[in-house]
Amino acid sequence: MSHRMAVTVICDGNRPDFVTDETTPVMASLKRAGTWFANQRGIFPSATRASSASIATGSHPLSHGLRGNCMGLPIDGGFEFHDAGKPEFFDTFRQHYGRMLARPAVSERVSGLHGAIIASNVSPGAAFFHDSYSHAHMYHRELCYAPGRMPTGETMKTSAGHEGDTVTTMRFIEALLEKRPSSATLWLSEPDVSMHAAPLGSDVHLAALAGADLLVGRVAEVVDRLRDEGHDVLFIVGSDHGHESVTEAIPVERRLFEAGFKTSLEGPDVLVAPQGCAAFIHFGGDSATRRVEAADWLRQQAWIGEVFMGEDLAALGQIPGDDLIAIDMAKAEGTNINGVPGLSAMAVRFDEEIGEVRRDCGMHGGRGPYETNPVLLMVGEGFEAGRLVQEESSITDIAPSIIRHLALPETDMDGRALQQN
Ligand SMILES: [Zn+2]
Repeated sequence: MSHRMAVTVICDGNRPDFVTDETTPVMASLKRAGTWFANQRGIFPSATRASSASIATGSHPLSHGLRGNCMGLPIDGGFEFHDAGKPEFFDTFRQHYGRMLARPAVSERVSGLHGAIIASNVSPGAAFFHDSYSHAHMYHRELCYAPGRMPTGETMKTSAGHEGDTVTTMRFIEALLEKRPSSATLWLSEPDVSMHAAPLGSDVHLAALAGADLLVGRVAEVVDRLRDEGHDVLFIVGSDHGHESVTEAIPVERRLFEAGFKTSLEGPDVLVAPQGCAAFIHFGGDSATRRVEAADWLRQQAWIGEVFMGEDLAALGQIPGDDLIAIDMAKAEGTNINGVPGLSAMAVRFDEEIGEVRRDCGMHGGRGPYETNPVLLMVGEGFEAGRLVQEESSITDIAPSIIRHLALPETDMDGRALQQN
């Protein structure tokens, strides 16, 4: 029996201007074989863990509930720092909110059809929040599980980078052919890993792109085979966010202490949760009443782009809070040492030195034109070959497009299906 399927490959951090015949011939040919979304937009923050939740649920953080890559959770006298990428955060989140994500993932929606598989080589948080109620077959170095989060005993010996991406891709292909799921998602760590480690446009970056492209090609061959065997496959290749190049790193929490907004440098009253080129600042304890004053001070700093509070956050699709400010770091015109456009300052908590290491390398998380412009191409029914869409689309449109392809109800999603008819 041949049923409809959706196969999605996310090349973490990839930028549309790096999809070329020279560097990424497979993606360039898929771009011609299907529809290319030139004005694809990410969420705020343009960071992987919250974006993974948004791609899975077709919803912004305001609707699904995972604020960012890291965040503060309340404790006595203020806030405590949590990294959403860590495996233990999955349980911390559940204990704090009494639930997982507030919107169903594609994996849950397809559980009455032929189910879902997810093979991921990014952080445990990004993988698990793609399937927060554990309806999929998951292939990840932290845990391989069957639906219901039943450990399968299988181990994936992978780490971030091309080698681990290759192992993950091979396992993905095996599971795809064996299970023929309604939805199959492969999430590669590259080119993001190399973009963080080396200047954008460098040989290291270009080699990582070529490597990711090769793996997309492996999956494309399997998609062809599934189509030959009668499956109507929607093939999606995209990324979760883009990148800017780092101009400088600002220790935001240290700066707030020096300006008198914190009682001690590492105390809990004011906590900065950096999101790369953006940050959330939580105000608790005795500092809570000084939030507006701190926002005014932040707006005067040269390293700040924009400051968001209250309903401004909701307008960005982000969860507002009386104890919260979000900042987007300052963007700059021009290019990095390799002539790649898109420059931004990045936020850290305390470390003064990191800017030297990071300069010209990639970063994301904020609202810059490149970090918020991920890749999206779709090949299949409803996506005319060679069509170029200039109209804005979003990473929240991926799930609705999968759901429409599978003829399931398009409910409880912020995004919209991108099929032409
Ligand atoms: Zn990244």
